[in-house]
Amino acid sequence: MAADDSPTPFRDELVARGHLIPSGQPGVFGRGDEFERVCTGFDRLVDDAVAPDGAERLRFPPLVPKLSIERVGYLKSFPDLIGAVFGFRGDEAEAAEMAQTAWEHGDWSGHLRQMDVTLTPAGCYPCYPAVAARGRLAADGALLDLGPCSVFRNEPSDDPARLQAFRMREVVRIGTPEQVLEWRERWMRRAQDVFARVELDADVDVANDPFFGRGGRMLAKNQRALQLKFEVLAPIATNAPTAISSFNYHQDHFGHAFGIERHDGEVAHSACLGFGLERVAMALMRRHGTDVGSWPSDVMRELRLDGPRP
Ligand code: AMP
Ligand code: ZN
Repeated sequence: MAADDSPTPFRDELVARGHLIPSGQPGVFGRGDEFERVCTGFDRLVDDAVAPDGAERLRFPPLVPKLSIERVGYLKSFPDLIGAVFGFRGDEAEAAEMAQTAWEHGDWSGHLRQMDVTLTPAGCYPCYPAVAARGRLAADGALLDLGPCSVFRNEPSDDPARLQAFRMREVVRIGTPEQVLEWRERWMRRAQDVFARVELDADVDVANDPFFGRGGRMLAKNQRALQLKFEVLAPIATNAPTAISSFNYHQDHFGHAFGIERHDGEVAHSACLGFGLERVAMALMRRHGTDVGSWPSDVMRELRLDGPRP
């Protein structure tokens, strides 16, 4: 990032317009009504694109069993991003001690124990054990529309596009390698059509996840070489392009971790796509301005911002 390419002026503009509501913690914002209408409008465009495929609609809460995080090896790849959940199981005397320490803004973490859930770090994680529990897949595999999934990542930042709590609009395909790769190809083209409808120039590029540490650098290199991850990129708070949507091929990683069987008894492969709803809304504001009322009428119509409020 160039010295003069700071993300904070755009963040401050979003706040001044009432699109983002600061919480006092970096990357944790409330959302104003207009901002939310842009997110919802874009989500509906994705609905329209998903519908013809007849995906099964499922919804999951923003918590996953800790066991799932352990099974997928999340802590090997992203120990720095996890949000574990801790709770209190002590007696009244200890509760009083904890409350007093908290009242004085001291460290009350010693009174807590880790719970059997964590915050969900990626929208699709809860769906794999659910699919595995159904038994073998049908011959045409599975296609799941998970809707906007609330997720958490421990990456506090001044960049408004790097949130700690955000929503991914996720769709997941599970089946043979051919089925999931064909689906991912089709969706990478489709996503560009969706972005074109809201006049967002979106470049697709091969990408890697931010794997942790020195070992992570090898994983990232491998992921790129095998083209396991693609991203659609657009400028948001800085001129450096930011991922607004991702297309991931997991090979048989989740199939193995959760025991998902194809119709022929082989381990299932999977792919997912995620549109970052807040990032898309911010990319649109970067492109068309933070005054949503002055956006091109075609874009307003596509996002259903021109009609009465729902
Ligand atoms: P990923 O699982 O990292 O590929 O994320 C899926 C999508 O979520 C990305 O394409 C982004 O649009 C969005 N996203 C990822 N990280 C963040 C973040 N820290 N803040 C806001 N959106 C994010
Ligand atoms: Zn996913």
